[in-house]
Amino acid sequence: MKKIQMVDLNGQYEGIKDQVDASISEVIESTAFINGPEVKAFQKELEAYLGVKHVIPCGNGTDALQICMMGLGLKPGDEVITADFTFAATVEVIALLQLTPVLVDVDPETFNIDPVAIEKAITPKTKAIVPVHLFGQCANMDAIMDLANKHNLYVIEDNAQGIGATYTFKDGRKSKSGTIGHVASTSFFPSKNLGCYGDGGAIFTNDDNLAHTLRGIVNHGMYVRYHHDVVGVNSRLDSIQAAVLRAKLPNLDTYNHKRREAARKYSKAFAGQEHIVVPVTVNGCDGICQSCDCHVFHQYTLRILNEKRDKLVQHLNENGVPCGVYYPIPLHRQKAYLDDRYNEADFKVTNQLIKEVISLPMHTELDDEQIDFITKLVIDFVNK
Ligand SMILES: *Cc1c(COP(=O)(O)O)cnc(C)c1O
Repeated sequence: MKKIQMVDLNGQYEGIKDQVDASISEVIESTAFINGPEVKAFQKELEAYLGVKHVIPCGNGTDALQICMMGLGLKPGDEVITADFTFAATVEVIALLQLTPVLVDVDPETFNIDPVAIEKAITPKTKAIVPVHLFGQCANMDAIMDLANKHNLYVIEDNAQGIGATYTFKDGRKSKSGTIGHVASTSFFPSKNLGCYGDGGAIFTNDDNLAHTLRGIVNHGMYVRYHHDVVGVNSRLDSIQAAVLRAKLPNLDTYNHKRREAARKYSKAFAGQEHIVVPVTVNGCDGICQSCDCHVFHQYTLRILNEKRDKLVQHLNENGVPCGVYYPIPLHRQKAYLDDRYNEADFKVTNQLIKEVISLPMHTELDDEQIDFITKLVIDFVNK
């Protein structure tokens, strides 16, 4: 059996090696390292793929979030509501801009931000909601957009884990994740579903004015060379990364399909296990993800119900199976983000999930033999 990896970037590279190597050489020979033609071309191709008017490439997914908040003109003291159960980047940029992060609980089935908890947290100071499409499935955007409209709030989708997923609205309309709110951010970190070979990120929006503002902010607040109209940052996608992304984008649906296939095999093997909860897909899904792209499985995350999660992690590692615990500590209990406003009783779900979740190897190169090996190890251990 091939060695099992959490993420296998090498196998994926083999499939696009010729194209990637050639286009990287071209960039080097052209010396257009920053904002070269590859970046512009990638921008256009991603706009077409997503069906969004504007893609603004930038340096990474964390910058993308920060630039979204700057572009919307959020001011110190404004409250921004986001999920307690996510990667820290989301809350970090809120705090860096001296906005006030307001963390709320998540849904136990999807792990995504809970709209009921959002509504409870809205105050006259609330200006924006940041739903994170965690592990590759969209948050409940019907409910979130309703709340935003009712309370006049911005919605910034953190789509770092969800690129390529499709959201189906209650009325049957479909949109790509990251094209539903006022603006969205994504990351091209190497292990993301669409990853480059270094750091990279992008912002999406359908709003022409906001797009113009954002394009200036990523480039030192310049709209005309050496005229700095607003305070900006330096956050650019470099041409070599754009070349890699151009080779990968046409394969994104195939990559995501392969992830879904692996997820389906995992879930089939775990079916009927009383101590294991497999990922639940809720949005426009046929239940087995056969003919939909509701979930792009950035992570395949189980809940282990019989308090054996920590020992299972150890057992898998001892048997050569890498795994992850995303996330082991809820953000509201991280030292940097403690706030007197929080009440433990309001975080029942995240406080439970951090003890139960385990993410199994998930990438485009998993084969049946590996999946059988992993599922058998998990099932035997959990039932022992
Ligand atoms: C990866 C990630 C980010 C940050 O992306 P970087 O490109 O690493 O800065 C932000 N939010 C979420 C949910 C992520 O998974």
